[in-house]
Amino acid sequence: MHDHETDGHRARKRFGQNFLSDPNIIRKIIDGIRPQAGELMVEIGPGLGAMTAPLIERLGHLHVVEIDRDLIARLHERYTPAQITVHEGDALKFDFGSLCAGLAADAGPALRIVGNLPYNISTPILFHLAGFADRVRDMTFMLQKEVVMRMVAEPGTEEYGRLSVMLQYRFRMGRLFDVPPGAFRPAPKVMSSIVRMAPLPVDQLGAQDEALLGRIVTAAFGQRRKTLKNTLRDFVGDADFEALGIDGSLRGERLSVAQFVAIANHCSARG
Ligand code: SAM
Repeated sequence: MHDHETDGHRARKRFGQNFLSDPNIIRKIIDGIRPQAGELMVEIGPGLGAMTAPLIERLGHLHVVEIDRDLIARLHERYTPAQITVHEGDALKFDFGSLCAGLAADAGPALRIVGNLPYNISTPILFHLAGFADRVRDMTFMLQKEVVMRMVAEPGTEEYGRLSVMLQYRFRMGRLFDVPPGAFRPAPKVMSSIVRMAPLPVDQLGAQDEALLGRIVTAAFGQRRKTLKNTLRDFVGDADFEALGIDGSLRGERLSVAQFVAIANHCSARG
């Protein structure tokens, strides 16, 4: 396989670089985001700027987080500091909350996050971003279709797992549309999808101990073919299942998000 060059830039595989090049798809994504002048928005991985340019045009100013030094240099050449604030480095370590520092205390969750995410880090980046959900208004991402299907999966399906439960606990999510490999240069091997995520109001979340919820969900899906009685042995016994009205002989994939929350809260209450 030869390296792929776009606009004089050699795409780097280790940074998951596939650049959007289909103007119709770009327009459709921007229309889905509906950027309004003056909004606080950050783009993860602007790359060669396929989405960056139309976003800046509509917003006036955009924050971006980019890891590739060559691409960062291009962004500085192309845009003025009034148009773009470039945060150099790894989005997995970036403090997205810092972007809200200048906002009024009563501004509410105002941050909008968008990006055609590097697919090699999609799960860790989603978990990292979930940590800022209380300051986020919405997030719109392009990801591998297979990951988006897992994010929005319903109980009882093969795709339903830890990612579905932990993200659906925190966000309302919807798959907007699919994007074929031919829309990128170089073309990825897989189909992509656009997903929209909006944080649920904090008073609707319900888990008294979210870290405990995370541990229980991880255990329940660690060995998918085993029953809850088995996988959750360290957390709950027969009497707990009975009190919860949950059949311990089921597998984790049968439980709703609310049932996982109920198990976690039962453990918290029991001490
Ligand atoms: N947004 C561009 C587009 O749609 O054409 C580029 C998308 S490309 C799939 C992913 C981008 O994320 C690249 O620009 C890559 O350099 C950047 N990137 C990869 N890993 C990153 C990380 N850990 N933190 C920040 N940016 C990263």
